[in-house]
Amino acid sequence: MDVTVHEASAQIGGGARSAELTLPGFVHDVCSAVHPMAVCSPCFERYPLEAHGLEWIHPEAPLAHPLDDGTAVTLERSLDATCAGLGADGEAWQRLLEPFVEAWPRMKHDILGPQLRFPRLPLRMARFGLKAVRPARALAESVFRGPRARALFAGIAAHSVLPLEARPSASVGMVLAIAGHAAGWPIARGGSQRISDALASYLRARGGQIRTGSRVDTLPDAPLVLCDITPRQLLSIGGSRFSRAFRRDLVRWRYGPGVFKLDWALDAPIPWRAHECRRAATVHLGGTLDEIAAWESGFTGAPFVLLTQPSLFDPSRAPQGKHTAWAYCHVPHGSAADLTDAIESQVERFAPGFRAHILARHAFAPAALEAYNANLIGGDIGGGALDLRQVLLRPTWRLYGTGLAGVYLCSSSTPPGGGVHGMCGYHAVERARKDGLAE
Ligand SMILES: Cc1cc2nc3c(=O)[nH]c(=O)nc-3n(C[C@H](O)[C@H](O)[C@H](O)COP(=O)(O)OP(=O)(O)OC[C@H]3O[C@@H](n4cnc5c(N)ncnc54)[C@H](O)[C@@H]3O)c2cc1C
Repeated sequence: MDVTVHEASAQIGGGARSAELTLPGFVHDVCSAVHPMAVCSPCFERYPLEAHGLEWIHPEAPLAHPLDDGTAVTLERSLDATCAGLGADGEAWQRLLEPFVEAWPRMKHDILGPQLRFPRLPLRMARFGLKAVRPARALAESVFRGPRARALFAGIAAHSVLPLEARPSASVGMVLAIAGHAAGWPIARGGSQRISDALASYLRARGGQIRTGSRVDTLPDAPLVLCDITPRQLLSIGGSRFSRAFRRDLVRWRYGPGVFKLDWALDAPIPWRAHECRRAATVHLGGTLDEIAAWESGFTGAPFVLLTQPSLFDPSRAPQGKHTAWAYCHVPHGSAADLTDAIESQVERFAPGFRAHILARHAFAPAALEAYNANLIGGDIGGGALDLRQVLLRPTWRLYGTGLAGVYLCSSSTPPGGGVHGMCGYHAVERARKDGLAE
């Protein structure tokens, strides 16, 4: 097929872009930074992205989670090493995750797609589903006895952007932990932009075209239209061409909380009290399960901060001897509050003296994120809340379909949801293929 990508922005990449946000020579990931789902993606596996310039860097450990006693609990690539660090809860961590880590090469096809279909591994998925459908707090408190494993799991589950008391927040905790053991949480050498550049280069090599600065505001006249936008934008672009029932379903779509994001140019690595934090590109700052849960369910107390420090593992991100760091926390949808001080205080808590190393900072509140990328409605980075209903009917019972022949939705508002993995587009094309519209 002749393929043309219309990108509203002057730069391709959407949620996978990099830019010198602070000072010359400091390359920051504007949105996504760490990519467990990209290295697991059955879609990306089919593309020769390495030949088009993409190189993954695997930090020694996928994740570190410092605690107030000056130590950190870590998610290691090896299940055994992770369990060893969890003391009495090691065995429980192993029991919870090992069956799925082993099955991951096949199970990922079931996870990274619509949940309302017959799975490839029905028994394994049923076993997974019974645990994953639970609230993260309930699962962590029933499986683990001590604060370290509970905190580690709570931080990972908080990527769901759901209260930890809500279903199915445990699912994101489990999937990201399994992916950490099975495939790692890598960063892209040179920045996340390299993922988009590699995809674009491959597309062009296959004859596709990309038009940047090309905002689409009415449905194009083409045999197949794949819309990488969220329901609100689809409504405004497609409007009256959709059935009343479909429009009503789109209006009902619920967006989730937003994020407040900071990027820093630093004159040194972050001075972590716990040396284990230097082994991971991703560091979760939130202390105990209770503290993380308080922030994620009501935005009370100190924010749960997700931080990455890519330049420790990729010197191309900053001038020699200098460093970059990226951090965000969830905030109420569309919030205009400035969380700079709260986020930096949380870093200071685990890395005293951090502020003294800041050369420059850049902040993104929800409105600025939405202005940067129209898909980030109210600062929601996942294309819509990941509650149970919206996991299954994402965004409607039609999933990728719109009821209009040849028009499909393919953004993170479709299964499997947010993250850089290409699987929403992959399944949208599969659907078009079944409808006889694609080869
Ligand atoms: C701060 C932040 C941190 C994140 N961290 C991670 C992470 O570490 N790892 C991870 O895997 N994911 C992360 N994500 C999520 C990830 O970026 C998204 O889930 C992913 O990019 C969604 O892909 P998408 O194709 O649905 O939409 P996008 O990547 O947002 O792409 C949509 C594109 O469509 C364009 N567009 C919108 N409307 C129009 C229009 N009318 N006409 C033409 N073009 C239009 C936009 O400009 C954009 O380029 C993060 C996101 C943010 C914002």
